[in-house]
Amino acid sequence: VAPKPELTKIDKPKTKELDGYVGFANLPNQVYRKAVKKGFEFTLMVVGETGLGKSTLINSLFLTEVYDRDKHPGPSLRVKKTVGVETSVVLLKENGVNLTLTIVDTPGFGDAVDNSNCWQPIIDFVESKYEEFLNAESRVARKPAPPDTRVHCCLYFIAPSGHGLKPLDVEFMQRLGDKVNIIPVIAKADTMTPEECKEFKEQIMKEIAQHKIKIYEFPESGGEEGDGAEATKALRARVPFAVVGANTVIETEGRRIRGRKYPWGIAEVENLEHCDFLALRNMVIRTHLQDLKDVTSSVHYENYRCRKLAGLSHDGKPHRINSNKNPLAQMEEEKREHDLKMKTMESEMQQVFEMKVREKRAKLKESEAELARRHEATRRALEAQARELEERQRALHAERAAWERDTGLSLDDLRRRSLEANSK
Ligand code: GDP
Repeated sequence: VAPKPELTKIDKPKTKELDGYVGFANLPNQVYRKAVKKGFEFTLMVVGETGLGKSTLINSLFLTEVYDRDKHPGPSLRVKKTVGVETSVVLLKENGVNLTLTIVDTPGFGDAVDNSNCWQPIIDFVESKYEEFLNAESRVARKPAPPDTRVHCCLYFIAPSGHGLKPLDVEFMQRLGDKVNIIPVIAKADTMTPEECKEFKEQIMKEIAQHKIKIYEFPESGGEEGDGAEATKALRARVPFAVVGANTVIETEGRRIRGRKYPWGIAEVENLEHCDFLALRNMVIRTHLQDLKDVTSSVHYENYRCRKLAGLSHDGKPHRINSNKNPLAQMEEEKREHDLKMKTMESEMQQVFEMKVREKRAKLKESEAELARRHEATRRALEAQARELEERQRALHAERAAWERDTGLSLDDLRRRSLEANSK
């Protein structure tokens, strides 16, 4: 059983002031202006072995101590039993644009002797965020829109070994590539010469293609035109970004630069001749942040939703799941099955209806016949009664005629005389 991801409780995000221009103030140009009022949400995940410079890079990216050292002790202080997932939220402000940035760290990843399954807590975390969003979205009252806490981008740190990907790198990226936007970065690029770095990049891209790993593809145009598009193309060519991180600002020749100072020189973070840090920052924050969100929503989240809807029955148990199948094709198949079921139900209902109508008709006919029978019987009884009355009338007449004959009196005369006597 995979260990549950440890989630750090976040109270209230802190607002941090930046030392310089990071670039997310450019966001309104990527999306509608009205969205500015409400601010932006972005979740960035960093994955890689301890000590590859993840926290240093994040702080360099946002020019502030995004990564709280008190909360996230350095490598030696971390307890490395299982892979954990820690989130920290900061509210960043730049030229009136608010960005709620969530950094997801995965301490312990790749640090154990046996690293099998160490990607599982990360998959669980990514999917738990999709699940949360799906639940919020499925609620009847969806206003206001649910907060988007889905992981929009995962920076995967590759150790600068110069040899290629490790089995764990391949395994992780293969498993997560269809769940989240992975951007591979080569850590501590200052430890390699430019030639070594070039060869290393080629080797990595070759292996990525070989293992059919899906990484985030920067679209041809990030909304830029003309020179901007050209610049974007040049930056795209730098994937995987070989980065250098530094939390120190060095004063040299009257300039203040972020860099790493060595006896033989300075490795400048924000210098495209020294490393790809600027390319990474420009692409992720200035030009493609919205695209990363869009791809998360329209590809990865949709895939999750389809998998979820197609793969789970009402009782939550998997049924007829075919993981090799395209989720859309599977949905289509389910729809066909559903239509067929509806048709069968409809014809069954039609049959039941017709049977009921037949029964009712038979009952009506029966009561009609009963009514006719009763009518006939009553008619016959009345006729018999009439015949009997006629009989009695005839007998009475005969009796009267016999009496008048015997007495020589007329019943009518007697009635008349009695009336006259009464009137006197
Ligand atoms: P994390 O454990 O991945 O978060 O790594 P840290 O950011 O804590 O960095 C580990 C060590 O590597 C620290 O001593 C950093 O100063 C150092 N470091 C960070 N980035 C770089 C880099 O780009 N180049 C070199 N040479 N060292 C770096």
